Amino acid sequence: MPKPEYCSNIPVLKQPADKPSFSVRLLEWWDEHGRKDLPWQHPRSAYRVWVAEIMLQQTQVKTVIPYFERFIDHFPDVQSLAVATSDEVLALWSGLGYYARARNLLKTAKICLRDHAAQLPQTPEELVALPGIGESTANAIYSQAYNQPAVILDGNVKRVLARYCAIEGWPGKSSIHQQLWKTAKQLLPSGRGADYSQAIMDIGATVCSRTKPACSQCPVNDDCQAFCTNSVQHFPTPRPALKIHKKSFHMLILTDHKGMVLLERRPPVGIWGGLWSLPADDNEQLLHQRLGINGDTLQSLPSLQHQLTHIHMTIMPSIGHTEPASTSVECTSDQRWFKAQQWPTLGLPKPVRQLLETYLESGRK
Ligand code: SF4
Repeated sequence: MPKPEYCSNIPVLKQPADKPSFSVRLLEWWDEHGRKDLPWQHPRSAYRVWVAEIMLQQTQVKTVIPYFERFIDHFPDVQSLAVATSDEVLALWSGLGYYARARNLLKTAKICLRDHAAQLPQTPEELVALPGIGESTANAIYSQAYNQPAVILDGNVKRVLARYCAIEGWPGKSSIHQQLWKTAKQLLPSGRGADYSQAIMDIGATVCSRTKPACSQCPVNDDCQAFCTNSVQHFPTPRPALKIHKKSFHMLILTDHKGMVLLERRPPVGIWGGLWSLPADDNEQLLHQRLGINGDTLQSLPSLQHQLTHIHMTIMPSIGHTEPASTSVECTSDQRWFKAQQWPTLGLPKPVRQLLETYLESGRK
């Protein structure tokens, strides 16, 4: 039996001659077991699919669903999102992480309002030209919103294809990505674009899962190269170990007698870009000097650990009181006192929200 072209890097295995194609088996499985009640599927507009696809980058469906529902309640279409402030958007994104996604969502909405009559453009070529939309995301929007066949390659799909064709190498590497893309293209059916995209994502999320794939229930196990060679655990090749940097800094919870708290907006790019944060600095003395605070009046709080993808943070917080009008804490445009009712609605980094909820009366449930 000839070696299938999409599995050209691996030894020939016996192919089941009596089996329908990969896509036919996948679609039959999806018709019976696939997810058909996700909130962005009803209705399945380009705008809703776009928002969902951006939220789903690096994030699981169950985490995304409540964020998606809140976001769509506030911003039901491109027009409403395009006129929002970045504070409003970041507030609804708060806790979902990877905040550049939210900033790009807003930028893209503004471009669509200006250049595309407040609609997402309809071709992958135009979609991929927008901020935050890569090739796979553009195709996911195109296939799902317009029911067109298009290659998608999110983390779940990469895992399925790496196993099905026993493709060696970390999928984040460009040459491996290209190989997976070529494979995905060859397996793509000509019809049912939306269902097939959902089917291949669903099989990755629910059957071909990362740690415990349910191969016995998989519709393509007869010719899955990893399963047939009893080597599922070797695929996909894991990412090379990341160098984790350690970062320690001081953070200050400063309140006034009315319970207002001082927050500072982070620079637009970099860690927590554009979010409101407690004043922070690597150097405690400089932090106190900048805010005009006497360090002796502050109370130290237990330190807090927080992990980003490649940074391990140790936050050393302290708390104190002052009055905005009578101290040198004068607000700049990126520095404001927020009332107890205001800060919970802001876009805040997770550990900052955690500190405020723990140590301020207003944060206690
Ligand atoms: Fe994944 Fe197992 Fe199916 Fe292969 S047989 S695609 S490893 S679930």
